[in-house]
Amino acid sequence: MSKIEPYITSIPDFPEPGVIFRDITTAIGSADGLQLSVDEMAALLEGEPFDVVAGLESRGFLFGMPIAYKLHKPFIPIRKEGKLPRETVGATYSLEYGTATIEVHKDDIKPGMRVVLIDDLIATGGTLEAAAHLLEQLGAKVVKIVCLLELKGLHGRDRLKDYPLATVVSYD
Ligand code: AMP
Repeated sequence: MSKIEPYITSIPDFPEPGVIFRDITTAIGSADGLQLSVDEMAALLEGEPFDVVAGLESRGFLFGMPIAYKLHKPFIPIRKEGKLPRETVGATYSLEYGTATIEVHKDDIKPGMRVVLIDDLIATGGTLEAAAHLLEQLGAKVVKIVCLLELKGLHGRDRLKDYPLATVVSYD
């Protein structure tokens, strides 16, 4: 068992019946949990040459920023539609009900840039897949995806098979 696991709280039937919500706020709400989470995620990038960390709003920011800081790399936010003030490029993807759009500042990404994508959790992988395609559309290469948690039963790993994916804790 990962040392992080005891810091994660599992909440049944949130936000709807049948879903077990994996709450990372109890991990980052502990000095030890926060340090362990960031250190273990950063360790998954050891030996990986890359240029920039991109984090997904909003929980991807919580981990992406300290990882970028620790590894002395720049941080790029991938945000929900309408939040970024300069010229953006967006990707729309399907959710269980309806669609969502994520955006990145166009000039944040340069062709050939090696990007590490960070989020808190991979469920179906739909959000990360949309983010990876968005970065590729701008000429970047997604060299690795790192998440703290993985919900194996939703097969996000299969969906993201084109990208190296590393996670710290996985749930069946
Ligand atoms: P997905 O696109 O299906 O991989 O879901 C991506 C986002 O939904 C993740 O960044 C999580 O923040 C959130 N999410 C999905 N399922 C859960 C869950 N069971 N517990 C906590 N967060 C979840």
